[in-house]
Amino acid sequence: MNLVLVVNAGSSSLKYQLLNMDGETVIAKGNCDRIGVDGHLSHKVPATGYVLEQDCPFPTHTEAFEKLVEVLTTGEAKVIDSMSEISAVGHRIVQGAEIFDRACMVTEDVINQIDALSELAPVHNHPHALALRACTKVLPAGTPQVVVFDTAFHQTMPPKAYMFGLPYDDYKNYHVRKYGFHGTSHRFVSAALAEAMGRDIKDLKIVSCHLGNGSSITAVDGGKSVDTSMGFTPLDGILMGTRCGSVDPSAVTYVMDKHGFTPREMSDYMNKKSGFLGVSGIGSDNRDIQNAVLDGDEKAILTSDMLQYQIKKYIGAYAAAMNGIDAVIFTGGIGENSWEVREAVCENMEYFGIKIDNELNHKTRGKLTKLSVEGSKVEVWVVPTNEELLIARDTLKLIGK
Ligand code: AMP
Repeated sequence: MNLVLVVNAGSSSLKYQLLNMDGETVIAKGNCDRIGVDGHLSHKVPATGYVLEQDCPFPTHTEAFEKLVEVLTTGEAKVIDSMSEISAVGHRIVQGAEIFDRACMVTEDVINQIDALSELAPVHNHPHALALRACTKVLPAGTPQVVVFDTAFHQTMPPKAYMFGLPYDDYKNYHVRKYGFHGTSHRFVSAALAEAMGRDIKDLKIVSCHLGNGSSITAVDGGKSVDTSMGFTPLDGILMGTRCGSVDPSAVTYVMDKHGFTPREMSDYMNKKSGFLGVSGIGSDNRDIQNAVLDGDEKAILTSDMLQYQIKKYIGAYAAAMNGIDAVIFTGGIGENSWEVREAVCENMEYFGIKIDNELNHKTRGKLTKLSVEGSKVEVWVVPTNEELLIARDTLKLIGK
């Protein structure tokens, strides 16, 4: 077996998948949750259907890794004899800024650089660094580790796409610019689409819509990201579960003033209390919004309309930016599953050459499917994303396997 452990660490969680890259199958997966609070492990072994739910103390990421090693190598959930059977570990890292434009091997220097970027991604990068250090401590010495960055795919954007209209010195001194996120997902689905279409990705202009709890839309020209909706942080772009997406910056200072918010409080307001939740007053989950739409709830209808309208505008903008498009991808929890959102986005887009089979769209959930009808100038596809698999592939490539 050619085993790769993929790790996605947050401040209080450590999600993982153990993949056998010989057949690209998942051997075990789960989440060490509530790190630093109390601690809970959810662990699954897909082949046997074994499920483990257990409260266990996780004061830090180190104890979470130790528990992970224990469940993988001992007891009922055991899938391997020892961690030395694992070829490498691949870590998802949110912010690589302009330093990391591709995946790389983990060294002490790389961990320090990731940690130093915490100023640009305080919620993510410091926990990543903690997890990298914990993993290094717990795994057998010499286990290769690789970091794969959410931002790396977008490092091909030209300055005209990534610069803000702020004084240039803020870019030079404080690195204020658009970075873009979800890069691993956009890269995975655009390559999978090119393969499904039987075309060379170099010849394709794609708009990739990753719609989930967090959402971003990317213009992919010839396999390269040329623009994307998320910005300096994952707050920018379209309306999300609890994130507001783009707003006039003056509205931000005005609302701060009105509520007497500190910058941190305003950040919480825009990241955690806005989006579907803030507009609808119902919740952050698209399913709850769509159900309320069926009940005729006015704010749910508004939320849903805003989401669909904003997605349409990005498709239009990126078609203009790339001088046309060959395909639109829907991915992420909403993109893969919500026929309502896909139908509304693709409605009245004939002038663009977009026409989908509504019946097929209704039935399509989480499966690679071409939704556009014959003769639709632009193809529309549902392409399930798999960031873990791409991280595992990148990891293997880097360790030369
Ligand atoms: P993600 O962040 O990619 O896991 O996506 C989460 C979002 O996907 C939530 O807003 C869910 O409501 C939405 N979602 C998941 N399954 C469905 C479904 N069957 N129909 C509609 N939306 C869904």
